[in-house]
Amino acid sequence: MIPMVDLKAQYLQLKDEIDQSLSQVLDSCAFVLGPNVKAFEEEAAAYLGVKHAIGVASGTDALHLALLAAGIGQGDEVITTPFTFIATAEAIRYVGAKPVFVDIDPKTFNIDPNAIEAAITEKTAAVMPVHLFGQPADMSRIAAVCEKHALKMVEDCAQSFGASIGGRQTGSFGVSAGFSFFPSKNLGCYGDGGLVTTNDDDIAAKIKMLRNHGSEVRYYHDVIGYNSRLDELQAAILRIKLKRIDDFNLNRRRVAHLYSELLADLPVTTPYEDGVGVHVYHQYTILTDQRDTIMQALQNAGIACAIYYPVPLHRQKVFADECAGLNLPVTEAVAASCLSLPIYPELQDADIRRIVSVIRAALNG
Ligand SMILES: *Cc1c(COP(=O)(O)O)cnc(C)c1O
Repeated sequence: MIPMVDLKAQYLQLKDEIDQSLSQVLDSCAFVLGPNVKAFEEEAAAYLGVKHAIGVASGTDALHLALLAAGIGQGDEVITTPFTFIATAEAIRYVGAKPVFVDIDPKTFNIDPNAIEAAITEKTAAVMPVHLFGQPADMSRIAAVCEKHALKMVEDCAQSFGASIGGRQTGSFGVSAGFSFFPSKNLGCYGDGGLVTTNDDDIAAKIKMLRNHGSEVRYYHDVIGYNSRLDELQAAILRIKLKRIDDFNLNRRRVAHLYSELLADLPVTTPYEDGVGVHVYHQYTILTDQRDTIMQALQNAGIACAIYYPVPLHRQKVFADECAGLNLPVTEAVAASCLSLPIYPELQDADIRRIVSVIRAALNG
């Protein structure tokens, strides 16, 4: 059996260090906003090259608070991609704004910068790109559109921890950005967790208040906030994994490049790298017009695979009414033919060869 991700393999490698660190937290009984959260925030900010990194309870909360602190709210429109996890659009709705979906680039699957400009109205307040599957979105062109029209950029970095462009990390381009530490993400904890990054002191101060009941000084509440703190036990785990994130991501790239090499002569489209950004392969996603055939063969061979995402957001029931007239042909074509294969840092070359030989046999059979 080859799974989509193997969390156990990574835990076993780090077990001694993680178990020891968790038992120190248990001994200390400092469970909420303790020393590990503070240290992790400093270490993550240094790694990401941002002034502030604030730990929160999930990636969804990170995006919600990142939008709220950036001043996005009721009546605003936020231009985003329909080819993403629902949380991107949920966060936009939580602040009272409207997600406006535009089409994606057929090669990177990221938001198409050309489509952004055409969707701008007087209500547009922000653009929310997603660095999908770990590939940085086109930051230079998106930032240029945002600057020209005085829009804020808030990045969804849930799948892109460690991805960079010209040495600059995703999460450092927007006014604010949200990361997720859901266990299967490139930097994953053992439960839920998230992070907001910003270079703006005021936004950072707002996020710190919002995550902790609108309070800076205990029992003095300035705004209505939330209970959305990164857990101390999760922060202890994340500190251990952060030290290895470059190695994890390099191994994801090794896996991806071997897949692409082995799949090169088959009638499938392998992931595109634009040569500008460093793709960290949260997912390895091919396009194929024989998806059902490949999926069946992999399943018969005990190999997992998955469709990310089968239904784009503008076709989800929750948005179907407001998006009824919206046609996004590239997104729809990609959703109909995308297939993600197993990828994780510990995946062995021999397993990758086996997976590709099953795909080869399915396509030749
Ligand atoms: C995982 C994910 C989120 C949400 O993160 P959670 O930590 O699960 O709340 C948001 N956006 C994208 C693109 C994601 O993949």
